[in-house]
Amino acid sequence: MFFRPGAYLALAGASVTSLPACTTAADAQIARLTVSEEQRPFVTVDEAKIAIVGASLIDGSGSASRDDQTILMENGKIVWVGETADAPIDGHRRIDGRGATVIPGIVGMHDHLHRPGTPFTAFSSTRLWLAGGVTTVQTAGAAQAERELGLARAIDEDGALGPEIFPSAPYVTGPGGNGPMNKSTSEKEARAFVREWAAKGVSWFKLYRHTEPSIASAIIDEAHRLGLRTTGHLCSISYGEAAEMGIDRVEHGLNAMADFVQGRSEGECLSNRAAIDALEMDDRRLIALVDTLVRNDVVVGSTLPIIESGYPARFHIDARILDALSPEQRARAEAAREAGRSITDEERKRTERYTKIVAFERLFAQRGGTLVTGPDPGRHIVPGYGNQRAAELLYEAGFTMPEVIRIMTANGAETLGAGHRIGRIAVGYEADIVLLEGNLAKDASAINRPHIVFSNGLGYDPTALARAASGQVGIR
Ligand SMILES: [Zn+2]
Repeated sequence: MFFRPGAYLALAGASVTSLPACTTAADAQIARLTVSEEQRPFVTVDEAKIAIVGASLIDGSGSASRDDQTILMENGKIVWVGETADAPIDGHRRIDGRGATVIPGIVGMHDHLHRPGTPFTAFSSTRLWLAGGVTTVQTAGAAQAERELGLARAIDEDGALGPEIFPSAPYVTGPGGNGPMNKSTSEKEARAFVREWAAKGVSWFKLYRHTEPSIASAIIDEAHRLGLRTTGHLCSISYGEAAEMGIDRVEHGLNAMADFVQGRSEGECLSNRAAIDALEMDDRRLIALVDTLVRNDVVVGSTLPIIESGYPARFHIDARILDALSPEQRARAEAAREAGRSITDEERKRTERYTKIVAFERLFAQRGGTLVTGPDPGRHIVPGYGNQRAAELLYEAGFTMPEVIRIMTANGAETLGAGHRIGRIAVGYEADIVLLEGNLAKDASAINRPHIVFSNGLGYDPTALARAASGQVGIR
């Protein structure tokens, strides 16, 4: 559901057909959900009543994995969750969940519809998001906001293929900032920009690195006045300053933090690398800043996949990613992989910065902060698989798997103001569900093996989706 005035809750492309509900167990007699032309080639489960039987469950709340659970879905909603022995399965299409794990659909929170060199990536992104288990995205900045809005609306209303999208306005930046971004020069102009894009239907505004403090304040204030939210990839504004302004979310954690940069004057964007390298995690100034963020309900957007990709010593790719990349992007990724095979001592030393970025996210969560996550597609980071990589990296960082899944799902949903209907496996929630092969609580790599991805109760085949997106990342 993307925001618009007077919005009502509808099932994206999954309204019930006029067939009467049926109570027998025979699959052929179970009513089916509506499947659009565009969804059809990828949908393997379209019954209105489905039972996933005997799976392990990590429900998004942060509580421990439970074995032998059954989940019933009806007409795109979760209607029953509990012990298999007690499950009222009759009348549902049965899907064997033994040896598999159920998690909520992933809520990707830094999931652009663009990447460097490709201003609009809808074709590959929608397919790879669903293939990777992502059923909701917040794009965190739009390069082509009109097209992004159009896609969000088409998915919501017309059965277009893809996850639910919370679209963003064009980026906001300031003097010296790059590209076709909004560069309002007065508060009045900034407020008019917010009203214009709010009326068009965006739900988020993203401040970019060179935004002037007075403009940022005006954007945040005007967005909040309209019930909309703001995030930032900051540089000219420190996290302390942004918290004071009331920003809702900051992207990239320590990697974009300007707070401890030596000699920075107000509104100036300087490199923060030396400051990060000098910073200790037990520095009292850092602890105080983290507590300020937590007290002001500032969410931190973790983007470990793209950050990891900047460190050759941590080069990570797999066959699925290579397959998704266009020939040109693939050649670039293979060259980067080669370069990653001979790491200098200096490069190894530089990689300590990555370790610190990860430690900051642990610290922030330990002190009560809300982390959300997205891959930030670019380099060899692709939609869907990049979200899965984020889960592996958070797990590597020391979060338990139930904590990781909470960050990936319920935290994102709550940050979007949608925590009452998505991000959890619980009665009354939308049937956005990923069935993973393997026991995720015991094997983190299971996050890479979705078997069926349910979005509003329609079950998609990850293999067919991946095949359709083969070679398309970097093209469309
Ligand atoms: Zn980004």
